[in-house]
Amino acid sequence: MRTPVIAGNWKMFKTVEESREYFRTFQPLGQKEGVETVLCVPYPSLPELVEAARETDIGIGAQNMHWEEEGAFTGEVSPTMLKGLHVSHVIVGHSERRTHFAETDESVRLKTRSALDHGLTPIVCVGETLEEREKERTRDVVRNQVVQALKGLSSEEATQTILAYEPVWAIGTGKASTAEDAGEVIGFIRQTVEEQFDSRAAERVRILYGGSVKPANVDSFLDIPDIDGGLVGGASLDPETFGQLVSAA
Ligand code: 13P
Repeated sequence: MRTPVIAGNWKMFKTVEESREYFRTFQPLGQKEGVETVLCVPYPSLPELVEAARETDIGIGAQNMHWEEEGAFTGEVSPTMLKGLHVSHVIVGHSERRTHFAETDESVRLKTRSALDHGLTPIVCVGETLEEREKERTRDVVRNQVVQALKGLSSEEATQTILAYEPVWAIGTGKASTAEDAGEVIGFIRQTVEEQFDSRAAERVRILYGGSVKPANVDSFLDIPDIDGGLVGGASLDPETFGQLVSAA
């Protein structure tokens, strides 16, 4: 039985003060027995939120990191720094980072490897663009991204990652995938994990759907057995709305 995950990705939203205020409302709404709740927030808000979430079951995650522990990498943040703050999760390979910050399959692999080495749970994002979907390349693209990201991991390590299928055309557009389509691609991702590792890893790895998840559609995704939860952007910015998504899981 896989524990469902509801993860928020705030992207570049909220000051430290706004984060503090958000958490006061969210804390009682964001905890549900048997559900893993995670908030992936901007770096400046991490210390404050880790402290606020200390006595709760809510995980606090980063949205990116470098793979090296330290070095001359101006502007970057390392896994050791995140671990030092008691951050639990880190998003790796979000499509916005692949598109705007030249994240590659190789950097996604290095970051996934490094997160696991430092005891951080990587939330590894994959997904096709609209153009790739229209050319019926979804499966090829997604398979390649999964295989590259998880390359070199042991089967046990693969089960410790969380995968997120986020079709690029569904992110921030209000135009979610249908639950049926998302379920089909996520089933295919599970099959890919089985081919790359084994059936145990495929049965245990959590795979989320992301892209315009909101209270009105969350049940349709959660009803699909292969979908283990959601990675939520816009609808995670309001504590009450995000709380509704947690209670739906
Ligand atoms: P939206 O929920 O705003 O579409 O964003 C999804 C996403 O990119 C989460 O990582």
